[in-house]
Amino acid sequence: MQHTIETKILKKNNELIDVDLSLSVLKNHKGMVIGSIGVINDITYQKWIKVALEESEKKFKQLYENAPIPYHTLSPNGEIASVNDKWCKILKYRKEEVIGKSIFDFVIKSERKSAKDSFEKKILKKKPYTGGHERTYVTKDGEERIFIIHDYFSFDEDKNVMSIHTTMEDITQRQQVWDKMMKSEEKYRVLAETSADGVLTTDVLGRLTYINPSLEKILGRRKSNILATLFRDYLSESSVYLFQQVFLDIRKKEKKMENIGLDIIHNGGYEIPVEANISPLKKDGNFIGIECTIRDISERKNIERELKQSEKLRTEFMNIAAHELKSPVTPIKGYLELIESDKDADEKIKNWARVGLRNAERLMRLINDILDVSRLDTDTMRFNMEKCDLTEIFDDATEDIEPDIETKNLKFIRKIPENLSKIVCDKYRLSQVLKNLLGNAIKFTDYGSITLMAEEKEKHLFIYIKDTGIGISSDETKKIFTKFYQAYTGEDRKNEGTGLGLFICKEIVKKHNGEIWAESKVGKGSKFTIKLPI
Ligand code: ADP
Repeated sequence: MQHTIETKILKKNNELIDVDLSLSVLKNHKGMVIGSIGVINDITYQKWIKVALEESEKKFKQLYENAPIPYHTLSPNGEIASVNDKWCKILKYRKEEVIGKSIFDFVIKSERKSAKDSFEKKILKKKPYTGGHERTYVTKDGEERIFIIHDYFSFDEDKNVMSIHTTMEDITQRQQVWDKMMKSEEKYRVLAETSADGVLTTDVLGRLTYINPSLEKILGRRKSNILATLFRDYLSESSVYLFQQVFLDIRKKEKKMENIGLDIIHNGGYEIPVEANISPLKKDGNFIGIECTIRDISERKNIERELKQSEKLRTEFMNIAAHELKSPVTPIKGYLELIESDKDADEKIKNWARVGLRNAERLMRLINDILDVSRLDTDTMRFNMEKCDLTEIFDDATEDIEPDIETKNLKFIRKIPENLSKIVCDKYRLSQVLKNLLGNAIKFTDYGSITLMAEEKEKHLFIYIKDTGIGISSDETKKIFTKFYQAYTGEDRKNEGTGLGLFICKEIVKKHNGEIWAESKVGKGSKFTIKLPI
């Protein structure tokens, strides 16, 4: 016979430990008891695990019982295995009145059949979670309460449903607030409910107090699920920040804000670009929230994307065409230059060569402009940024234009202070900008002077190119920086050009974190300013 008892023994170091003590009787061959054998097993660890398990179960039970939301556990046939205190409190039953009963006895009659059907389907589907649907239960005293329910399924080893744990979110009050508001604002409701745009209102904290069916569609969420939640929870990360700013601004200034671009996160996880118009909502003169219309602009964005794509194709085509044109023009120019400088050539032929050369150069300029535009459009123009001495750049630019100034008999004024700070720039590109602006100044000026000035001011370098030429009308001074735009395109316009030069200048200056603009008076002359950070 063996006896096992659980006891404690004292170790040599005075430590008391838990043990299992098994005692067996020892007999001789005649069956007489001659002693006993004891086996001692240290069970400290098992004991500790047992206590820990009991502790964790207790904690879980406590959590379950004290959870602030109603909670029930069901058997696979819908019988209630357990409910927590909150469940009892809201539905006004005592635990012993509900355990063992079918959960469907507590569902409102009109939903009972569909609730049962969907429950059975869910059991068969063997999914670990289903949720987010609305269900109305009836309390002991007959009051209807609306919940959003979430079901979590646990399975046995054969993957059969063992039990169903359900959390319930009581939205009865939300629904009532909504119904009350709808009743009191009937007229508004009809308008908002039928609007093709999304409409929402929030309270002072930005929590949704109303959303219309169009917004439900944009969000992919039912109003009952999201009323009283924060609108910003349905915005992309970058939009949250913007929306918060706008919200605070509207609250402060109490003024409407329009065309705010936001990205809404659809329930399916993808983003929808929208445009929002937001106004403050006031009651008795106090700010009580916002009212917002939301327009889905995905379609517009798609068209924009397609346009960009076709623009890209056009740029690529321009790029290829320009390269193809450049190859034959280079040798043509070379041969014409040879003829022009040939001592033995006839003067008449040399003149023809000069005309040819001038036109070949013009063609080359056009090709280079087109190539630059396509590089800028595709962001492939390379910039060699380094600290540069500006005097060098000014010298390079003016050297090129001197012959043209002489030909047109203009005066050239250069006012560059000594010791200008060095700036970080691509000297080839900056010189290209200056040549372009000076070239234009000469091209559009028949009498008077061209001035190149520079000054340092407010941590910036200002470069001015002034002329006393034909000038530009004030509504055109902005447009001339756009691609292909040429001001004054009347019949008598005699200046050649492509309308690309200023666009290229503006883009190059932009790449230097600078700005460029024009001021002008028709008939008096123009002043172009470049502002670059030092
Ligand atoms: P392009 O000179 O090849 O036509 P630009 O882009 O350099 O192209 O200039 C665009 C237009 O701006 C010019 O066609 C001209 O109408 C106007 N413009 C530019 N610079 C001046 C200037 N200094 N005086 C008068 N008009 C100017």
